[in-house]
Amino acid sequence: MIDWEEMAARGGASWVESANDPDGGFPLDNLPYCVFTCGDRRHPRPGIRIGSLILDLAGASRSGILEGLDHSVLAACHAHTLNKLMACEPAMLAALRTRLLHLLHARADQATRGAMGVLLSPVAESTLLKPVDPPNFTDFYASIDHATNVGRIFRPDTPLLPNYKFVPIGYHGRASSIVVSGTEIRRPSGQAKPASGGVPALGPSRSLDYEVEIGLYMGQGNALGVPIGVASADEHIFGISLVNDWSARDIQSWEYQPLGPFLGKSFATSVSPWVVPLAALKPFRVPAALRASGDPDPLDYLWNPDDQHSGAIDLVVEVRLLTSAMRNAGAEPHRLSRANLRDLYWTPAQLIAHHTSNGCNLMPGDLLATGTISGPHQDSAGCLLELTVGGGKPVVLPNGERRSALEDGDEVILQGYCRRDGYPKISLGECRGTVDPAR
Ligand code: MN
Repeated sequence: MIDWEEMAARGGASWVESANDPDGGFPLDNLPYCVFTCGDRRHPRPGIRIGSLILDLAGASRSGILEGLDHSVLAACHAHTLNKLMACEPAMLAALRTRLLHLLHARADQATRGAMGVLLSPVAESTLLKPVDPPNFTDFYASIDHATNVGRIFRPDTPLLPNYKFVPIGYHGRASSIVVSGTEIRRPSGQAKPASGGVPALGPSRSLDYEVEIGLYMGQGNALGVPIGVASADEHIFGISLVNDWSARDIQSWEYQPLGPFLGKSFATSVSPWVVPLAALKPFRVPAALRASGDPDPLDYLWNPDDQHSGAIDLVVEVRLLTSAMRNAGAEPHRLSRANLRDLYWTPAQLIAHHTSNGCNLMPGDLLATGTISGPHQDSAGCLLELTVGGGKPVVLPNGERRSALEDGDEVILQGYCRRDGYPKISLGECRGTVDPAR
């Protein structure tokens, strides 16, 4: 007797051979969602990835192999984005995941495999589209290492502002300019002060930067006026993705006082095409990051014993850079940083509890990004501003090129994955973007 609940959290071979490579990142335990087209599948549709293949959920819904699942789920499988799936009851989505595990498991019979086979397309031949149209985008500032490093550049004596250890700091971002991995990023123009001083002028940004972040996509939201508590916050997370919060530092530094980020951020935000369900991350849940002695305890509405015990996620994020010169020379992308999501000062549940503590209503598909993920080391800084200490110490690439800001033709590649002994690797895939010249 197979324990499918256990299977949903751990292990299991699939009859899809490419899923069984323990380092492949897309085993039966992952099953991330996407929206794709491929060949005759011309209309965008939800899919789930298994190994090197994508299962067409619209086709699956039509074929009868998902029979018995809730109508809301079956209908959502025909939408052009994942938003409708994200609005479904968590229990109904868990039933979909369990069904897919059955159908793709090595023990599935020949008839099942035959019915499934026609619904699979190679990832390599598919076009991956923006998976979600987030109604809202919020960006936090949850890495204390990032906040400290950036603060130190501007305020050497008091890098962290006094509210940091009490309030999960965030701002409302722009949802309309979210683009999927692979979309070119047009260098923004904006108003900035010349480095030499004098009056500000409008022109192409001279200090374009990336920020490596993890995005939480919301499942079912909350009614206006009704906060979500830390204890139930995870039930509202549909899944996670990689996020690159492109930032024009010159525009940002001139505009941000007194109301915070605006045009230095809103020109583009990239997301990875895969949305990894929270269920796939269960084996990688770890205690909330230890607070330094002397730090205040979280206020009651942000504190929950279960969340402290296993609310964080052990997930590695890496950033690589490929310049035009490197590309032309056939060089490999160069790794700029590696950090871990578990080091954030706030857990995902705390971010949600804080976001809704004033009654603000979250909606299915809303994107809540963590803020730049940095760690305590020099090679764990999640943006160039921090890596180069405000631009003063340019990064030197293997071919001798230097960067304190992104140049046209530079491609930034984010990767994310979970590893733990005894479990297959779970990958978030990649989030890529290449800088195009200003218009
Ligand atoms: Mn950010």
